[in-house]
Amino acid sequence: MKYIGAHVKTTGGVENAPLNAHNIGAKAFGLFTKNQRQWVARPLEQSQIKTFRDNCERLGYEPFQILPHDSYLINLGHPEKQALEKSRAAFIDEMQRCEALGLDRLNFHPGSHLNLADEEACLRTIAESVNIALGKSRGVIAVIENTAGQGTNLGHTFEQIKFIIDHIEDKDRAGVCLDTAHSYSAGYDIKSGEGYEKTFSEFDRIIGFGYLKGMHFNDSKKPFGSRVDRHDLIGEGTLGKDVFIRLVNDSRLDGIPLILETPDPEMWEKEIAFLYGSLKKI
Ligand SMILES: [Zn+2]
Ligand SMILES: [Zn+2]
Repeated sequence: MKYIGAHVKTTGGVENAPLNAHNIGAKAFGLFTKNQRQWVARPLEQSQIKTFRDNCERLGYEPFQILPHDSYLINLGHPEKQALEKSRAAFIDEMQRCEALGLDRLNFHPGSHLNLADEEACLRTIAESVNIALGKSRGVIAVIENTAGQGTNLGHTFEQIKFIIDHIEDKDRAGVCLDTAHSYSAGYDIKSGEGYEKTFSEFDRIIGFGYLKGMHFNDSKKPFGSRVDRHDLIGEGTLGKDVFIRLVNDSRLDGIPLILETPDPEMWEKEIAFLYGSLKKI
């Protein structure tokens, strides 16, 4: 069973996310549990939490169909102590918000070394940040998203992600989210049939499908291996639609949230319909 949806808006409160997802025919959704461009947020109110849970139940969204995303400001690998502390505190708050909402996973971009630390030291810092956050929350999996490798962002190779997982103590609460646009920009050729098989068998060999807790479905505005992160509409970018037809027909992606982060919210309903319409067309 495929659970396809989009990263929906939470205007008016998180409790509106399931309604927005339902309105576009989504069977999964992503959301921010707080303003993604601000450090501090008001705590969630009990009434909001209850409405969110009620809406999810009524509209048929279980935790495994929901992939919250953390704030863009957070850098869990920050090489400077004060900035790292700020990021860690914000991430703990995000994990606790997910826990309060009854959610079981939180997607995050691993971190950046900012040319102030070497790669391995930064990866160790990221893992330590995750360990701290796992110690201060319950039941929420920290889901590492692969990146395009833009600037000094780490997490653009499966080996880097594996290194982080290796240093996370509670492996049951470590997960991975693969973003199609990031993968392609990072140099994983998922576009061709052969490249697709090679990429996913490499993923399975190095990390393992057991860790895959979600995917982001985005086409890319940038060429293969560009290391630049720019999403495009499904079928409109350098990836093209064939890879998405292949993805929705791949049984290894059953039972996890498959989330669009494409640039035009007006298109999500159509894109979701296209993806569901592409089942078993190979
Ligand atoms: Zn993404
Ligand atoms: Zn991206």
